[in-house]
Amino acid sequence: MELKEQILKEFNSRFNEKPSVYASAGRINLIGEHTDYNGGFVFPGAIDKVIMAAIAPNGTDKVRVFSIDIDEYAEFGLEESDAPSQSWARYIFGVCREIIKRGGTVKGFDAVFAGNVPLGAGLSSSAALESCFAFALNDLFNGNSIEKFELARIGQSTEHNYCGVNCGIMDQFASVMGKEGKLMRLDCRSMEYEYYPFAPEDYELVLVDSRVKHELADSPYNKRRESCERVAKRLGIETLRDATQAMLDGIRDEISAEDYSRAKFVIEEKDRVLAVSDALNAGDYETVGRKMYETHEGLSKDYEVSCEELDYLNEIAKECGVTGSRIMGGGFGGCTINLVRKDLVADFVETAKKRFKEKYGHEPKVYEVVISDGARKVE
Ligand code: ADP
Ligand code: MG
Repeated sequence: MELKEQILKEFNSRFNEKPSVYASAGRINLIGEHTDYNGGFVFPGAIDKVIMAAIAPNGTDKVRVFSIDIDEYAEFGLEESDAPSQSWARYIFGVCREIIKRGGTVKGFDAVFAGNVPLGAGLSSSAALESCFAFALNDLFNGNSIEKFELARIGQSTEHNYCGVNCGIMDQFASVMGKEGKLMRLDCRSMEYEYYPFAPEDYELVLVDSRVKHELADSPYNKRRESCERVAKRLGIETLRDATQAMLDGIRDEISAEDYSRAKFVIEEKDRVLAVSDALNAGDYETVGRKMYETHEGLSKDYEVSCEELDYLNEIAKECGVTGSRIMGGGFGGCTINLVRKDLVADFVETAKKRFKEKYGHEPKVYEVVISDGARKVE
């Protein structure tokens, strides 16, 4: 059964109103990794994997919501003290609260939702969930008066204030603002963004989820951040966004070899994002792919946030003739994102599954994705 039919059927069995249906998407990031906290660029897009919800105001001050995938029901009020205990429901409660905190309106509603964004695979199912409800509640109770970018911020604040995740804006931004056949280059310093065409006829995006997550004792994320901040400070600039390779080479003797490598990656990554911008405008996917490999190399050798399993997946991609492949996300596990010529997809997927399993005992999960619309009302 299609997602929409399934949700409507469930809604009709539980509630009496006639609901509207909304959806929002998971996301990928083509390039621009560990750049957000350096004031740089990211390059996300929404994908054809969504969270979809049927929602109707119920005339009370209570929210009643059923999660099909988790098979749980939650009911909660809209005051700060009404936070539900189920973690999935806190995403929805948080969105309600963040709208109210901004002076918007949320009244009681009934909802049923489900999705096909894999949970915890690096495709940001949580942002899809937040964005779906933020978009819906803006439409149902606020006459769409809240700007779309603000809907993304509502999702981000939900993660910060109700889910204990101190995330940046990229995931929610991509989920809300995504457009079919377009990637978005977001400037994490100015928050300006631009759409770039991404609708290759001959290539596909394939995500390979290693299903490993290395939890390291010290926080490597904070250490990377500190390295970047130290170098920026030494250069007398706010973030590495304003650094060049020549500037970095000028202070090479004054900083540790490790800090040098970290900063070098960030500077090179910024240049790669700019090169990819031009390549996308020119429809030059071979260059895009080359830059993805370079990013992987930099993340692995200079930024040192890869791991054996991800390097192995990258190696397999190269051997299969895949156009571009790199770690997607913070590193130390999770997914690779691969730009694959259509005629090679089947072979690559089969080879990656087989060889990875031979070496690590389990198959990676594979998701083929298409760049699609973000938050929307489903007619
Ligand atoms: P991700 O990287 O996919 O965003 P998170 O851990 O941030 O992973 O978010 C996953 C959480 O979002 C789940 O534990 C659940 O609470 C909520 N969630 C995501 N998708 C669904 C869904 N289809 N149904 C119910 N809850 C969901
Ligand atoms: Mg998440």
